[in-house]
Amino acid sequence: CGIVGYTGGKQAYPILIDGLKKLEYRGYDSAGVALLQNKGVSVFKKEGKVAKLEEHVGVSDVASHTGIGHTRWATHGEPSDRNAHPHLSKSGRIAMIHNGIIENYAQLKNELLKDGYEFKSDTDSEVLLNFIEDIQIKNECSLEEAIRIALKRVTGAYVILLIDQAHPDTIIAARKGSPLVIGIGQNEHFLGSDASPMLAHTKEVVYINDYELAIVKPDELILKNLGNEVITPFVQKLDLE
Ligand code: GLU
Repeated sequence: CGIVGYTGGKQAYPILIDGLKKLEYRGYDSAGVALLQNKGVSVFKKEGKVAKLEEHVGVSDVASHTGIGHTRWATHGEPSDRNAHPHLSKSGRIAMIHNGIIENYAQLKNELLKDGYEFKSDTDSEVLLNFIEDIQIKNECSLEEAIRIALKRVTGAYVILLIDQAHPDTIIAARKGSPLVIGIGQNEHFLGSDASPMLAHTKEVVYINDYELAIVKPDELILKNLGNEVITPFVQKLDLE
C-alpha cells in the first residue's frame, strides 16, 4: 500500500491527496486521511481510488497542518469503507495507518477481546492500534513508549504512522520490512512509502531503517531505536531531474 504524511505550515490535506495519487500504483482498494484539527482527530476514508475519497470529502472542513494518508492493498478484511485506513483507536484520540501484515494479530486480538474491546474493522492494523493504546493506558506512559513496547511483541512487516490529538503537530512513525522515507523541508516534514510524494517539495530525504521510530514535528526530526536510543538521521540529497 501507499502511505503519506505531512506536518508543517501549509495545509496538509492537498499535499496528502497529491501524494496519495502518486502512490496509487501501490494499491487502490481504498483511500483515507486523518487530520489533526482544532476539534481533534478527523478521519475521512472511502473504498476505491483516491478520486472517490475526494468526492466523499466534498466541501467538509479539512483545515489542518498535520495529517496522514493511506491507499490500501487489502490483506486482512475485504476492500470496504470500514476496513479502509486510517483507523481510530477506541478512545478516538489516536489515528493510525499501516502498510504491511501483523502476523500475530489473532493472538493480540484475543487478548483485547477478553478486555472487552470491540473492533470496527476486520484488519490486523486496527488490532495493533488498540494494542498500542491499551499499553499506553495500562502503563500510563507516552504514546512513543507504548509503541516501542508494542512493537517488541509484534511479528510481521509494517510501516505505521500515528497522530494523537494530545500532540497537535506530531507524527510518530515506525518501520520494519516496509519502506519509509522522510523528506525535510523548511519547518516542514513529508513522509512517504517512497520519495515521489515529496519530490515537488524537497530533495533532502532520510531513509528510515528497520526497528527505527521517528518523532516528526515541523521543525524537528528525532530518530530512535526500539531501545529508546537517539540515532543521528543520515540526510541524503536526491539527484533527480
Ligand atoms: N494488512 C493491512 C490491511 O489489510 C494493511 C494492508 C496494506 O498494506 O495496505 O488493512
